[in-house]
Amino acid sequence: MTSTQPVATPASASLPDESWPIAVNASSSPRSAQERAAILAEPGFGRYFTDHMVRAQWTQADGWRDAEVVAYAPLSLDPATNFIHYGQAIFEGLKAYRHADGSVWTFRPHANAERFQNSARRLAMAPLPIPLFLSSLEALVRIDEAWVPVAEECSLYLRPFMFSTEVGLGVRPANAYEYLLIASPAGAYFSGGIEPVSVWLSQEYVRAAPGGTGEAKCAGNYAASLVAQAQAAEHGCDQVVWLDAVERQWIEEMGGMNLYFVYGSGPTARIMTPELTGALLPGVTRASLLTLARDLGMQAEEGRISAQQWRDDCASGAITEVFACGTAAVVTPVGQARSAKGDWTIGDGQAGPITMLLREELLGIQTGEVPDRHNWLYRLA
Ligand SMILES: *Cc1c(COP(=O)(O)O)cnc(C)c1O
Repeated sequence: MTSTQPVATPASASLPDESWPIAVNASSSPRSAQERAAILAEPGFGRYFTDHMVRAQWTQADGWRDAEVVAYAPLSLDPATNFIHYGQAIFEGLKAYRHADGSVWTFRPHANAERFQNSARRLAMAPLPIPLFLSSLEALVRIDEAWVPVAEECSLYLRPFMFSTEVGLGVRPANAYEYLLIASPAGAYFSGGIEPVSVWLSQEYVRAAPGGTGEAKCAGNYAASLVAQAQAAEHGCDQVVWLDAVERQWIEEMGGMNLYFVYGSGPTARIMTPELTGALLPGVTRASLLTLARDLGMQAEEGRISAQQWRDDCASGAITEVFACGTAAVVTPVGQARSAKGDWTIGDGQAGPITMLLREELLGIQTGEVPDRHNWLYRLA
């Protein structure tokens, strides 16, 4: 049942699927079963890490080498390490879920592996071979399998990342990179039931511009977003919504998640997500929901919507629901929107039925409760 299904881009049709050798140097001081159980009882998000990590190095001369599992430990860096100054740093995020029979699976990892390569190319970094990406996930989850939570909607969050390691202050693509994979147990994102978020439409700041790095999952995009996120909080909102950089009117994304707009209800409901212009991050969740919505008999399309249209369509009742989607929070309803021009409520401000249906369908596939009819699952342990 292991998937070799290409996803995301047609270029993936001839993916090599052989594994990449990864040496294993197990930690001499893993946490005890009791310590682990205490952490897994209330993991939160991104606060605790498993006993191991994977690392590999690239140099101009030797390419990718020395892939190994080692004890999770701090890094030691020369103060002139290139990425600290100039930001050649990219990452990915995916989740491993434990199924009812104890096996551990992740979701469409080829798509993340390809996006990681695309991000690397945009930042003039050395792309990580797809077999190394996939084998690193398998190696880490195998050795730290006991860290994959059993509880419902809990998962092991996997964080692959890469940065330049060349020492020196010259501004140019580095001649050395380090790849690392760490893992962090994650609790149910919504512990007290699904809470809709409120959003602030930022007129002042943009996340990405045409020709910029919006499509790449790079650290700098997040650094650039923080001041707008703080402004959203000042306006009493949970999250920021990004508008396009040129006209400042077309809706792009919400924080670090893609957005969907739901028109109508019941069997004639239609969902629309902003099209990929080069400034949006092409989410794996976003792509999967286009397919799942069609499976469920809905119309699902990519399009565009302005801030004004969003507001008008909520007033007229044409838009019934809005939700955000991404690996970390899966599907998150948006209940309220606010901009410099005013506030509006989406539907009745609560999580709507289409949002919940799509959420259950996607999460059901990921957790093994709904048949994996598109071969999206990939077994890790
Ligand atoms: C990672 C990310 C997403 C969601 O992508 P998924 O592959 O669905 O997790 C959306 N927007 C931004 C800006 C992101 O960084």
